[in-house]
Amino acid sequence: MRIDVFSIFPEYLAPLELSLIGKARQDGILDLQVHNLRDFTTDRHRTVDDSPYGGGAGMVMKPEPWALALESVLPAVGQGTPRRPARTPSDSLAPAKPILIVPSPAGEVFDQALAYELAEEKHLVFACGRYEGIDERVLEWAAGTGSTGTGSDGIDPTSTGSDGPFRVRAVSLGDYVLNGGEVAVLAMVEAIGRLLPGVVGNPESLVEESHADGLLEYPVYTKPSSWRGRGIPDVLLSGNHAKIAGFRREEQLRRTVERRPDLIDALDPTILTKAELAT
Ligand code: SAM
Repeated sequence: MRIDVFSIFPEYLAPLELSLIGKARQDGILDLQVHNLRDFTTDRHRTVDDSPYGGGAGMVMKPEPWALALESVLPAVGQGTPRRPARTPSDSLAPAKPILIVPSPAGEVFDQALAYELAEEKHLVFACGRYEGIDERVLEWAAGTGSTGTGSDGIDPTSTGSDGPFRVRAVSLGDYVLNGGEVAVLAMVEAIGRLLPGVVGNPESLVEESHADGLLEYPVYTKPSSWRGRGIPDVLLSGNHAKIAGFRREEQLRRTVERRPDLIDALDPTILTKAELAT
């Protein structure tokens, strides 16, 4: 998988050189490049922001550097462009567009299902906003949607077609506001990257964890078996694999009901046994 991240603070993304994601980069599983948005400015001061139209607090990220930055990672037409399998004769040569992920507290909330979905992609591009965010026309241009009026440069956005160079997703880390998109990108890249084949040593650990099947994980314990007066559940020492699996399943359900009843409401009922459905 290829990932490009654009930020005015590329140093913020340094943790992506560490641990499993850093190793995945070294092993060639993940081709991850971090770019400085200011390298795509054209003025002496490397300006990336300006005051908002309509007034109000804060600054807004200018569209020009964003467009140049995002264009720089688009595949050159006809050159090594990955192709999607043909669906209809008319789109048989359609290239797979990269997904542009714009972190935003006003986006869809990132979750494990979205991490799995994005882990199937070949090319993700992350655009880290700062200040009050990125001029909305960048997202419209990237997606090929929108018609926010005719610009004073005389270009009618509606006449440029409805098909932009990216598939655009505004994605939120949760219902709170961060200072910039970098922390959100760190979290998303780690969640997506660990799902790529070969990144996590034992793929079984991806199956047995929280949110894999809509439930939270059961509690885990290690040696010593007695610590500060606390033991571990006897069943874990029984060697009876069926009983251990049963205990863990009960704990998953108990925890999820207790801590995240919203997950129970959203659960696919087919993953529950008849007995579990009855309780
Ligand atoms: N004015 C924006 C609003 O109210 O929606 C918030 C701007 S925030 C101070 C600056 C940047 O931080 C955003 O453009 C976005 O990239 C990032 N950001 C803030 N909170 C986020 C969240 N919960 N999830 C993802 N990105 C977030």
